[in-house]
Amino acid sequence: MWKASTLPSDAATEAEQPFACDGTWHPPGGSRAVPARLVADRGRVEIVPADVAAEVALATGLETEVEVSARVGSIPRRVVLPDGSVFVSHDNDALDRWLQRRHGAGYGFVAALERFHPRLLVVVAMIVALCFATYRYALPVMVEVAVAVTPPVAPQMMGRSVLATLDHSLLAPSALGEGVQDSLKRQFRDLADLSPRKAEGFTLHLRRGGRIGANAFALPDGAIILTDELVELAQSEDEILGVLAHEIGHVEHEHSLRRLYLAAGLSGLIMLAGGDIGAAVEDLLMQGSLLVTLSYSRDHEHEADRYSAALMARAGRDPLALGRLFARLEEELGAGGGGLLSTHPATGERIDRLRREAESQLRD
Ligand SMILES: [Zn+2]
Repeated sequence: MWKASTLPSDAATEAEQPFACDGTWHPPGGSRAVPARLVADRGRVEIVPADVAAEVALATGLETEVEVSARVGSIPRRVVLPDGSVFVSHDNDALDRWLQRRHGAGYGFVAALERFHPRLLVVVAMIVALCFATYRYALPVMVEVAVAVTPPVAPQMMGRSVLATLDHSLLAPSALGEGVQDSLKRQFRDLADLSPRKAEGFTLHLRRGGRIGANAFALPDGAIILTDELVELAQSEDEILGVLAHEIGHVEHEHSLRRLYLAAGLSGLIMLAGGDIGAAVEDLLMQGSLLVTLSYSRDHEHEADRYSAALMARAGRDPLALGRLFARLEEELGAGGGGLLSTHPATGERIDRLRREAESQLRD
């Protein structure tokens, strides 16, 4: 349709002018290269021989049917026609003008990004900043929301499933004598009964640690695992109970649920790039072998340390015992000692803080 009678805008005028650019034409399946010219006019594309008067088209198609490869530096662009033949052109600028006309401003933006590397870098930097912001600010918020909406049955399922996996892979039944086990469990109950969840909210599981050595950790459902090796290393019951009170603190503050969600969220973020998020996150939440090696944040550790000191004092136990155990572990095993130290770095600062906390509990 000719629109000579209306007032044509510049864009409309340009859109109606035929577009042409030079290159070579390659018939489908052939290695022949024919010097040719691409002509686009009113929605139709024709490839015509460059040297002959454009009587016979080598290939034709609608603009919507042809595919143009993305611009990568100065690499010649390929225009694939409906019959499978390919037109190749070095005239990237001309092709861009044509594509811009076809796709509008949106295409121009993407094409410009691909063309100008400094701008591409800016986009990459923006994406990195967004990921960092998500990790730093959004993920903790999402974790809090997830914790808030978690139905009580979920931590129980996770706890049971993680313990079953650990029993299968890492842990062995405790080799402690029956009398020692009973006594530990009784004292643990008395201690846990002083916390808001009471004794019913917790279960003590005694296990041989093997590879994970002298260790203790809490699961989201209030299951607390204590290894024989830690019991053997401790020089008093209060040292063991101090560790258990610390783990009770992790449960009361829902640290292990938060830690699991954070790890799940992180692997989700990482796998957003193109993996199966669902399966990976489910693995993490239910298998939980990572749980043993994942450290809590330093804030969580301090919170649990404070909790331990307060609970021990309330139970009439020695709140200083936990600090003494950490100091001795650090001295005997050093930083690379593994076990409890691998997830609970006993830095001098931490031990000092523990002692101050315990002493203030004793004063009150
Ligand atoms: Zn801890």
